Amino acid sequence: MSIKKSIAAFNEAKEVIPGGVDSPVRAFKSVGGTPLFIAKGEGAKLIDIDGNHYIDFVQSWGPLIFGHGDKTIENAVLEAVKDGLSFGAPTLVETDLAKDICTLFDNIDKVRFVSSGTEAVMSAIRLARGFTGRDDIVKFEGCYHGHSDSLLVQAGSGMATFGTPSSPGVPADLTKHTLLATYNDIESVKKCFDNSSDIACVIIEPIAGNMGLIPADEAFLKELATLCHDRGALLIFDEVMSGFRASLKGAQGHTSVVPDIVTFGKVIGGGMPVGAFGGRAEIMNVLSPDGPVYQAGTLSGNPIAMQAGLASLKQLQSDTTLYNRLESLGKRLVVGMQEAAKEQGISLQVDVRGSMFGFFFNDQPVKNFDDALKSDTTMFAAFHQKMLAEGVYFACSQFETGFICAAMNEEMIDSVIEKSKKVFGQLA
Ligand SMILES: *Cc1c(COP(=O)(O)O)cnc(C)c1O
Repeated sequence: MSIKKSIAAFNEAKEVIPGGVDSPVRAFKSVGGTPLFIAKGEGAKLIDIDGNHYIDFVQSWGPLIFGHGDKTIENAVLEAVKDGLSFGAPTLVETDLAKDICTLFDNIDKVRFVSSGTEAVMSAIRLARGFTGRDDIVKFEGCYHGHSDSLLVQAGSGMATFGTPSSPGVPADLTKHTLLATYNDIESVKKCFDNSSDIACVIIEPIAGNMGLIPADEAFLKELATLCHDRGALLIFDEVMSGFRASLKGAQGHTSVVPDIVTFGKVIGGGMPVGAFGGRAEIMNVLSPDGPVYQAGTLSGNPIAMQAGLASLKQLQSDTTLYNRLESLGKRLVVGMQEAAKEQGISLQVDVRGSMFGFFFNDQPVKNFDDALKSDTTMFAAFHQKMLAEGVYFACSQFETGFICAAMNEEMIDSVIEKSKKVFGQLA
């Protein structure tokens, strides 16, 4: 397999784009090698500019639940383009998509659309602060909520204290209102509430997908909701990844816990740039122009993106066995790989939630970020590289989630398991 053209393209890109990429994870830094430049996607497959084919378990980092080039979404977009790309004025499709979401979720009366997951979360947090009149927020170590300033934090001197910036360019003044807690550990959240009486909200990925796949325990989520309620803080489910991925109702299809605000992104745009956040009317009404909390966007609710989102959602709703099919494919994949690894004396921790799957090179259960960090990233990097050479495109980091799409089938999954057998044999 030659990737000569990708290597040349990467070198050329690096001259004019920092690191040659527009989002750092794409650069393959943690696994080494050259990122592949993509010419085309077809269903479950990616084709790079050298003409190599790969089974794609990244699916644009989540959005493409129907795979590449889904005809229904493609046609919705092509039709919408004919009427104009953007108006900066209300269109009917925004209401249609909002209605679909509000009907699907009992706890969402109103929803506002934005253009990315980052924007959705940033706006949801401002809303929570405006609604409660409080400044502090709690997030969990290892959860990712986009790249806005107050969320780029790492643990300071200890957990449950105020975070310090995880990136230069973020003033400590902007992270001093963010407290960090440990995923699946309610005591660490209690400590945050003990340290601050000014907590506006707790934000969580209820199915964490940005430190590898780590679902929250049901008991933990229940205690978290009770704690927030008792202390007058809002609970935000960041479902930018898990929304319409883990089930039609995202994490809310797996837990009885009901959040106050939910954020969406990825699948909700069907591959176009869309984010959204929603909640009860009393909360959402605090947003401008009804209320005082400012939030805006020139391309928010863009009609092309909305049509792509609506077409996706309609398909997700009409195919009642879809999530079961995707989940069983995911299970088949990770269980098959786990067995193949075990034959070579390699331990994998695996999990699946709907169309999301994860595998850690780790011999202990993974419940939080610290556990995840104990995984063998060197072995992951070797595995990634060798699987890529076999035509299997996994996310280029141990700390990402894999995605099954509707264009996959058992035959493809079994071929990947066979390839993994060969690769595990080489790694052992
Ligand atoms: C991807 C992601 C974001 C950020 O979304 P962008 O569209 O990349 O800005 C936020 N939260 C979660 C949970 C995500 O997975």
